[in-house]
Amino acid sequence: MTFFQDASTAGQLLGIAVSIVKNARDLAKDSSNHELKNVISDAYDAVLNLKEKLLALDEENRQLKAQLAKRGSFIGPVPPNGYVYRADDDHKVHPLCPKCYQEKGHESFLTKIGDQMKRVSRKCPVCQLVIPEKTIGSNSQGS
Ligand SMILES: [Zn+2]
Repeated sequence: MTFFQDASTAGQLLGIAVSIVKNARDLAKDSSNHELKNVISDAYDAVLNLKEKLLALDEENRQLKAQLAKRGSFIGPVPPNGYVYRADDDHKVHPLCPKCYQEKGHESFLTKIGDQMKRVSRKCPVCQLVIPEKTIGSNSQGS
């Protein structure tokens, strides 16, 4: 089995397995042993199914890696408000909507909609979520 040494990926190994089983199927074509033919035919179908599954997993893996790379460029959710920030927003002054980010992976900046009793609220222009902002260390005094 020396040819397995050159194969480094699952896809290459599977390609080798497919060609071996295909060879076996071709060799068994002239055989009168129907049981052997059926077993080889089943094995061939099984490796083809495996190949299909592997392609689907490869695609899923590619998408997850892309998502992971995108997540790496964001920080959060950050307490106490659960905001998400771009990694390049060093002073955390432009919070992103946590709902849009977590549910859809969208980058939507929250807007400031006013101060009431020294409490700032922010609103997402995309999903309309309003977040009454909590300041760090403050309790709900005087409500
Ligand atoms: Zn939103």
